[in-house]
Amino acid sequence: MSEKNYEIYLGNDLGFTYCRDATAFRVWAPMAEAVTLNLYAEGTDGGDAGNSADSALRKNDLPRSVAMVKSDGGTWFLKVDGDLDGVYYTYTVTNAGVARETADPYARAAGLNGMRSMVVDLNRTNPEGYAGDHGPILKHATDAIICEISIRDLTGDPSCGAAYPGTYPGMTERGLTYPKQADPANTPAGVPTGLDYILDLGVTHVQIMPMYDFGSVDEGNPSDENYNWGYDPINYNVPEGSYSTNPADGAVRIKELKEMIASLHRHGIGIIMDVVYNHTYDIENSCFQKCVPDYFYRTNPDGSYSDASACGNEIASERTMVRKYIIDSVLYWMQEYHIDGFRFDLMGVLDMETMQAVSDAASSIRPDVLIYGEGWTGGDSVLPDHMRALKCNTRCMHGIGMFSDDIRDTLKGNVFDSEATGYINGSPETASELLCSIAGDVLWANDPSDTIHYMSCHDNLTLWDKLTLSAGKESEETRLAMNRLGAAIIMTAQGIPFFLCGEDFARSKTLPDGEISENSYNLPLSVNALDYRRLDTCRELHEYYKGLIAFRRDNALLRLPDAAAVSKALHFHPICDHVISYTLTGDAEQLFVVYNPNPYPVSVSLPDAGIWEVYIRDASAGTEILDKIQGSTSVSARSCLAAKIRISSLNS
Ligand code: CA
Repeated sequence: MSEKNYEIYLGNDLGFTYCRDATAFRVWAPMAEAVTLNLYAEGTDGGDAGNSADSALRKNDLPRSVAMVKSDGGTWFLKVDGDLDGVYYTYTVTNAGVARETADPYARAAGLNGMRSMVVDLNRTNPEGYAGDHGPILKHATDAIICEISIRDLTGDPSCGAAYPGTYPGMTERGLTYPKQADPANTPAGVPTGLDYILDLGVTHVQIMPMYDFGSVDEGNPSDENYNWGYDPINYNVPEGSYSTNPADGAVRIKELKEMIASLHRHGIGIIMDVVYNHTYDIENSCFQKCVPDYFYRTNPDGSYSDASACGNEIASERTMVRKYIIDSVLYWMQEYHIDGFRFDLMGVLDMETMQAVSDAASSIRPDVLIYGEGWTGGDSVLPDHMRALKCNTRCMHGIGMFSDDIRDTLKGNVFDSEATGYINGSPETASELLCSIAGDVLWANDPSDTIHYMSCHDNLTLWDKLTLSAGKESEETRLAMNRLGAAIIMTAQGIPFFLCGEDFARSKTLPDGEISENSYNLPLSVNALDYRRLDTCRELHEYYKGLIAFRRDNALLRLPDAAAVSKALHFHPICDHVISYTLTGDAEQLFVVYNPNPYPVSVSLPDAGIWEVYIRDASAGTEILDKIQGSTSVSARSCLAAKIRISSLNS
């Protein structure tokens, strides 16, 4: 559908503008014949506008439903006198003779399950000192080390011991351990859970699975089965209600989310928000569709809806008012919630011009904002490939990172074939395919900051389950070695390392009947939640991850900011017997890194005759010197070796 017949509105006051003595409403509905504003005391259907319990409205002597006035650029406008803080509202939009009630597309607060929007004085939702709240400042994007979490999964399991499991407040609880330490002086040390687990890892950022308001979980009915990842947006600018202790009051979730963000920031953790602008929960009941039929969705030439998201619809990001909506939304989360970065779900559905505009607008507010996403789609799109933010078009954009399916699949085998193997789990002959990723994927990326290196995320099998299904004949000890080697490659390669929380303790998504799930998006919490009993039994693997993270943070040579720096510092040695080795040379020191994927140890010659300090070897990693070596050394089966030498000793 062409958009040429639509008036556009580029003002910044869509939605509500609150003042204590009046609130103005503006909604874009350029084809509508009439728009009515409806005010309610309650956030759900129960509290009808005419209900006698309607005290907030009575107190202010507010009208129930008022016709809005046609205004500039296809918008409808109305100013209502009185203090409307806490008043719920909807619009009734009449298009082509059909009147439909809808939430506000620009809603910033909402009632239970998001069907009614709410006017809120956002100032009263700010925690103390919120104006000074700020996430960690990144010198380079490659300094980020990202762990993916879900608010519900991180603290939802009983083994976490949270007082507010699965909620925003649960994410702020300190001192949690498994087992619970009733008497710390007389019980063995437990493993850290919840926030303490994240802090213990030493990561710089968490990527949080959807926390905008999604439609698939009934917010009024918490239960193990009432679970969904939330890749089904209904209100893009409202926090999800099921993570709040009181989803019925639209202000509570906002305050609780801000408190969670401020808490993570106080502990030095940046927050990357998972955003799903590529599709909505559905078309029929979407606020976009009710306001401007078919404008927000791409259609095929035959009139059917294009479905590159594989979720029934795809957003027409290239249209002026859709692009504006996405940019406005991202900037709102940055400014109101202090979000530090964004992970775009199925970013390949969105057009490049929109993604570049998002990146430019976000970086103008904050130069170190992280913008990256999935450079692919879930199906074919009606919009041509050369216009969309696909991984193959990375070089046509700047400041936009992509998940590297190259390193993911080369390390452990094709993601869609559970038995397929890669470099770490039985196919060491793929060594040469890894070199590009180790160098920052600069064959398709502009710089290492454009590539997100990972082995596991919320989608598909966990790394441990993948190793179980692809290398189940090997002993558990061997599979742990494979896991360690993969993690070491991710944490030493040039790029931005990323892992699913729990990868460090062999997380598994296993159903009660023993079946392994490769897509747990709507399975119960008990399948998805982090089981800290497993961390208790996998402490060594967890310590290895911690050591790798600490080593990376300690060595700028592993975090080179751009392709020129990589070209200058990185030197690969010839691959021999599938063993990859390379040096990274800086001004003051040189690193030597070796990956041995073979089921037997290999001997390697050190690149310089001086004395090398070993920091990663066998099952150990960290910032402490493990050993000092000279001449040549042995690298154990399926393991990484990393050693360092001072340049001064090189010259002597
Ligand atoms: Ca919701």
